[in-house]
Amino acid sequence: MIITHSLAEYEEAWERLSHKNDIGFVPTMGALHSGHLSLIERSVSCCKHTVVSIFVNPTQFNDPSDFEKYPRDVDKDISLLQNYDVDILFLPSVKDIYPQEDNRVIDVGGLDKYGEGPGRPGHFNGVAQVVTRLFNIIKPSKALFGEKDFQQLSIIRHFTRALNYPVEIVACDIFRESDGLAMSSRNVRLTHQQRVAAPHIFHCISMAKDYVHSKTPPRQVADQIRKMIDSNKLLKTEYVEIINALTLQPIDNWSDADQIRLWCAVSASPIRLIDNIKLK
Ligand code: AMP
Repeated sequence: MIITHSLAEYEEAWERLSHKNDIGFVPTMGALHSGHLSLIERSVSCCKHTVVSIFVNPTQFNDPSDFEKYPRDVDKDISLLQNYDVDILFLPSVKDIYPQEDNRVIDVGGLDKYGEGPGRPGHFNGVAQVVTRLFNIIKPSKALFGEKDFQQLSIIRHFTRALNYPVEIVACDIFRESDGLAMSSRNVRLTHQQRVAAPHIFHCISMAKDYVHSKTPPRQVADQIRKMIDSNKLLKTEYVEIINALTLQPIDNWSDADQIRLWCAVSASPIRLIDNIKLK
């Protein structure tokens, strides 16, 4: 694994790759866990070369204290990555990615209207800014993203197509702890009691599967699940929505969409946990 710290170093390492049209790219913000590693394994299995980036992108944080407190442990990340067949690790500085302020507003096709969008203004535009810049630098043929961040994945798919990037977006399953909690870099910031409470989220959202063929309408099911999650004193839902998995809009009837997902955001204060599950 070649570790590169600048655009020039990356370019030099990229020049040496034998199959430049077969590069799998896994962008991350570091504090790597098994969820990230599952994406890397998938890239290694389907591409000749794998590039991983670690960059905590300031433009996607609407809360500066969340940016400051975001867990960072690059040395540990590097030692984990040494166990995988990664060709290049890219560790850019903010100046490498943003030599000047990025004022672009990238069209996300209205996919930010629900879910994380309303509560995190600018977040998905920041994601689009960094991902487009990383695509320009890395020049991947495939980019792998986790369904853990389902809305992010949908938005990236949208602008990759809209902006004609020659990059195939590969969706990867959510990787969970054995008790069902979706793995996240933020989980290390949970207190012991919050960590014990957190699997309650997956337990509750899994119950929605039983209602897909029922007469109970999706909004009512979402509401019941919301109450169930909130019955745990350490958890407070921000939203629970049952959505059309293509348009990301909440649905009124189970017959309104061929692909349906439930997504939620839950506060285990001050940490926000997001999760989602495929229903149909
Ligand atoms: P992050 O470092 O949080 O920006 O995540 C980098 C990539 O890893 C994104 O594509 C995430 O969706 C993905 N990812 C994070 N957690 C998980 C997980 N538990 N399972 C699968 N993919 C994940």
